[in-house]
Amino acid sequence: MKGFTTKAIHGGLAGGDPYGTLRMPVYDNVAFAHESARAIQLTFEGKKPAHAYSRISNPTVQDLELKIKLLSGSLGVLGVASGMAAISNTILALAEAGTNIVTTRHLFGNSLSLFEKTFGPWGLEVRHVDMDDAASIEGAIDANTRALFLESITNPQLEVADCAMVSAITQRHKIPLIMDNTMMTPYLFNSKKAGVDIEVLSSTKYISGGATSLGGMIIDNGSFDWRNSPRLKESAKKIGPMAFLASLRQEVFRNVGACMSPHNAYLQSLGLESMALRIDKSCDNSMKLAGYLQNHPQVTRVGYPGLADSKFHGIAKKQFKNRFGGLLTFELASPEACFRFIDAMTLIKRATNVNDNKTLIIHPFSTIFAEYSAADKEAMGVPPTMIRLSVGIEDHDDLIDDLDRGFSAL
Ligand code: PLP
Repeated sequence: MKGFTTKAIHGGLAGGDPYGTLRMPVYDNVAFAHESARAIQLTFEGKKPAHAYSRISNPTVQDLELKIKLLSGSLGVLGVASGMAAISNTILALAEAGTNIVTTRHLFGNSLSLFEKTFGPWGLEVRHVDMDDAASIEGAIDANTRALFLESITNPQLEVADCAMVSAITQRHKIPLIMDNTMMTPYLFNSKKAGVDIEVLSSTKYISGGATSLGGMIIDNGSFDWRNSPRLKESAKKIGPMAFLASLRQEVFRNVGACMSPHNAYLQSLGLESMALRIDKSCDNSMKLAGYLQNHPQVTRVGYPGLADSKFHGIAKKQFKNRFGGLLTFELASPEACFRFIDAMTLIKRATNVNDNKTLIIHPFSTIFAEYSAADKEAMGVPPTMIRLSVGIEDHDDLIDDLDRGFSAL
């Protein structure tokens, strides 16, 4: 199997079900019986691959994990309850009080809030750098740095870091590079080839197939030598490359309990099969809408890495498959104008999600980033005059008709 969609359709546990079903059923149960006391002991010790309890592993979730493993070409994958569960479990497995992670202020708001407001009081230090600036990254890393975290396209600033540059630095310092690849997914960006060690994804977005369900993925690309991780080195000496995933499955993820529900895994396996087709359409629509907005006299700025005059166009073109994602932003004259524009939509939905089949509109300043002060929001690249569009797969003429309605209301 070579093609992305072929793998998405035919990968996973195909053939593993006793009834030969063509679609992995929902194993909506909690516990699994074993043939002997010894067998269940070996399962608990991680020496026998079998399911024991659905908070730790489940066949329907495993089917999805194996599909994502095939698509990403990674060492292994863990399905979790949400994108935030993927990020929090990953940091919990690698860092501890007195250590730091290096990241940027230009991130999804909840990720920043998790690092600073949730992990901060537990003793984790968060260091902010400019991901465009190698010297600023180098300057922030020290012996207590446990990871560098970035997004493939930042939400909602739509910035694209040069992954090769960043990964050369993390490799030199022997710290894992973690990337939130929600916006591009393994279809548009193979993070392994780009030198990313751990990819995290909110599968709630493109993978779920139209915002059907929450989910997250932790993908170990197999590139990091876990003997260099202070938390994992002892286990890496014993079990080798699987140390990170084993520490999650047998400790952090098991103990935190943010597992993916089998029903969500079923929906997301189904969504995955058509994901490439949907992403292509959403990217095509985004290019068309970005061009339309760029030429509109009432728009003061459009943010979309697909536009030739975007600061990030060159690197995005090089890193992604000449596709630039389904998220774009534009600015109007005032926050009041943004509200009038948003209220005039009849087709486009006022909602906070991204990468749904439906196009969604939001004013990030007053919603997703509401917990931050105006000064913080400015530092985070979220101005009060910005509207974010998550572009769906509708016919683009209908979307432009709705945007026209917005401009008529100004
Ligand atoms: N990462 C990014 C880039 C996101 O946009 C989101 C949600 O919008 C998340 C993570 C969190 O995902 P979830 O809602 O599945 O927890």
